[in-house]
Amino acid sequence: MKHWSNITLPIPKWLNTWSAGIPQTFPEMNQRMFLVIDLARLSIKNGGGPFGAAVFNQCTGELIAPGVNWVVPGKSSLLHAEVMALALAEQTLGSFELASHGLFELVTSVEPCCQCLGVLMWVGVASVVCGACSEDAQAIGFNEGPRSLYWEQELRQRGISVTRKVMRLQAVEVLQSYTGEIYNSQLQASIQPR
Ligand SMILES: [Zn+2]
Repeated sequence: MKHWSNITLPIPKWLNTWSAGIPQTFPEMNQRMFLVIDLARLSIKNGGGPFGAAVFNQCTGELIAPGVNWVVPGKSSLLHAEVMALALAEQTLGSFELASHGLFELVTSVEPCCQCLGVLMWVGVASVVCGACSEDAQAIGFNEGPRSLYWEQELRQRGISVTRKVMRLQAVEVLQSYTGEIYNSQLQASIQPR
């Protein structure tokens, strides 16, 4: 007989140590992007995937929560960088709805995949800022899933602003330095038109 317990997801042990050693406020967009690209680099170095993200208070620039891609070490397909950052932000604020606590910005080193796009809509962020483009992730073999071609417009219609290609070259550089596992790539092959 099967038995299930509460779902708990691991985060990297080094994340709190890292957080203790950095400034806690990032007023400029480039500072926020620099931080998440650095998180992607650290993730690779520690056995994770080549993606970093963080949630900031949009007005003050306060870092609310970081995230990295921890799918392979954490043994969970939920552990994308954006989902980790958003879930930790919910934990920090004690709420499943960030919008009721202020304006928050999700900054991500690569554009969100279909999973992360769904989560960020429900969490209630005011703004999304992306570094590398989906095609940059696809170029190294990652699958972004069946995302609408109109995802930017759909987010804007929901009142979420979208900014793309911030420090794209630096974000791509980190993607291209990744030599670890490319998971889900076989799913990409299975959805090719016949
Ligand atoms: Zn994702």
